[in-house]
Amino acid sequence: MESHAGLTVDTAATIDLLRTLVSIASVNPVLVPGGPGEAEVARCLAAACERLDMAVTVEQVAPGRPNVVAVLRGSDPDRGRSLLLNGHTDTVGTAGMDHPFTASLRGDRLYGRGSDDMKGGLAAMVGAVAALKRARVRPLGDVILAFVADEEHASLGTAAVARTGRADAAIVTESTGLRICVAHKGFVWATIRTAGRAAHGSDYATGEDAIFRMGRVLAALERMDREELPQRSHPLLGRPSVHASLITGGEGLSTYPPSCELAIERRTLPDESDDEVRGELEAVLAGLRRDDPRFQASLEVPLTRPGLEVARDSEIVRILGRAVARRLGAVPEFVGLGAWFDAALLSQAGMPTVLFGPSGGGAHAAVEYVEVPSVISCAEVLAQTITDFCGVQPA
Ligand SMILES: [Zn+2]
Repeated sequence: MESHAGLTVDTAATIDLLRTLVSIASVNPVLVPGGPGEAEVARCLAAACERLDMAVTVEQVAPGRPNVVAVLRGSDPDRGRSLLLNGHTDTVGTAGMDHPFTASLRGDRLYGRGSDDMKGGLAAMVGAVAALKRARVRPLGDVILAFVADEEHASLGTAAVARTGRADAAIVTESTGLRICVAHKGFVWATIRTAGRAAHGSDYATGEDAIFRMGRVLAALERMDREELPQRSHPLLGRPSVHASLITGGEGLSTYPPSCELAIERRTLPDESDDEVRGELEAVLAGLRRDDPRFQASLEVPLTRPGLEVARDSEIVRILGRAVARRLGAVPEFVGLGAWFDAALLSQAGMPTVLFGPSGGGAHAAVEYVEVPSVISCAEVLAQTITDFCGVQPA
């Protein structure tokens, strides 16, 4: 492989783009009705990629909600591997923030909504391709930058990329503190409904209390969380968990509740399948039915998301690790993250996927920032990874 130690990132231009991206509001309009969405930030990124002579396409994944996909065509795609860099352009809302879009720079930190989650990563993606351009390095395989909508809600953007895009590996540039994330958890959302029988509050002979019945479900789930789930563990992710999220039921103080509904979230390890998790929940309800033939409950699973796990000896992990060592002079750190990310959808579509991005803090919180030097470091590592993974024409 070529070395290209000369790959340098244009610090001023990268910071400039970062500040522009943070100053453009792109609050997800589903999370916050009236939120501006991704259109303007997408225009800005499309223009930046066109200036780098990339082939840019804009696809609406929902009305006014564009994905931008920019391709740096490889010089010899038959000989080089293709690499997808993926980052989301939407942000959560700005509750509690004083100046969410001024993009103020204090010391090494750039503040504002979306700075950490994840416009620092977006700026690094562009900065990496710009560094190749500056060094006149043209990879053999395609480099694809995907700037996607709607990660903060339903992942419409990455779902579209996963349906149509193909690359030999992918990197999602969410903030990881310049560590390489090779695993994250998945989740299963489930709704449990217990049935009772409505009756006047005095009519104990007729009334059947659906809320009491849900109490048994809650006790069983708590036991699962305290006793069973801690027995499973992943070296980077710890144990899976379950918690009760929302509960509704009852019609009035003097009425036996005919129904109760509980929404729960089960956070899963990468090797726990949806079917297994559903089966365990069904088993809880079956056990309660055995104990009491009058117990009635049903289970629905409205949404599941897989966890992520990429093999430590896969090419993308090894090459990214080497690029970190080389560019940052640091021993690469491999981590797992508890939260769910779009990375799992790309992995599910057959692309070995990792997360690697800048350092920052306050994602979804009132004070959000990204460490600017880490954005530059991230861009340098990405540029190095592109040349090593996609290959380059000998000069
Ligand atoms: Zn994010």
